[in-house]
Amino acid sequence: MTASDWRKILKQLREKPAIMQKFLKHNKPKERKYGLAVRKCERCGRFGAHINQYGLHLCRQCFREAAEKLGFKKYS
Ligand SMILES: [Zn+2]
Repeated sequence: MTASDWRKILKQLREKPAIMQKFLKHNKPKERKYGLAVRKCERCGRFGAHINQYGLHLCRQCFREAAEKLGFKKYS
């Protein structure tokens, strides 16, 4: 499990506490300090096409939608 979001699994396992305990003991991925999985879109949770510039932390799709609200202008 490299870049996938394991919090989704925890959401599924909330109904099954015993299995969740087992998952947390044996299969929980470690917290990353660097790499792809560290940078995640704050709006939708995507890993790809991340924009870090100006402290945005958005993916390109969310940036496209939210750019005008943030004050960016399109010149073309
Ligand atoms: Zn996004």
